[in-house]
Amino acid sequence: MPFVITDPCIGTKDTACVDVCPVDCIHPRKDEPEFETAPMLFIHPDECIDCGACVPACPVAAIYDSVDTTPASQKALVNANAVYRAGDAGAVAEAVSIVESHVESHADLMAIDPKDRQAAH
Ligand code: SF4
Ligand code: SF4
Repeated sequence: MPFVITDPCIGTKDTACVDVCPVDCIHPRKDEPEFETAPMLFIHPDECIDCGACVPACPVAAIYDSVDTTPASQKALVNANAVYRAGDAGAVAEAVSIVESHVESHADLMAIDPKDRQAAH
């Protein structure tokens, strides 16, 4: 089961997870062109080796350790993580669209500071 990034990353996006991931499966990195406009980062589910290093690195507890443990309020973002592919404009647009829909439908969560958002999941 891959790890999953959820909505506390929106508005944080500090890339601490990227720095510790041993297999470079978290995108976009700061040196990728999509970074500036991406609303959050995504874990490639086929490349993640479930090492867990990213979880304690995240300052806002955005990362869950499996699809099963990802709360219901975040399920759409499981799909965003699954479809995002660095360098694939169509896949990037699809993932961003999923995130935008999540933001629109979860105004309650988005109103919470990112560091406190996970507690409201
Ligand atoms: S669990 Fe490990 S391999 Fe998977 S995204 Fe986190 S740091 Fe990378
Ligand atoms: S460490 Fe957390 S907030 Fe920072 S980019 Fe990674 S998932 Fe997003």
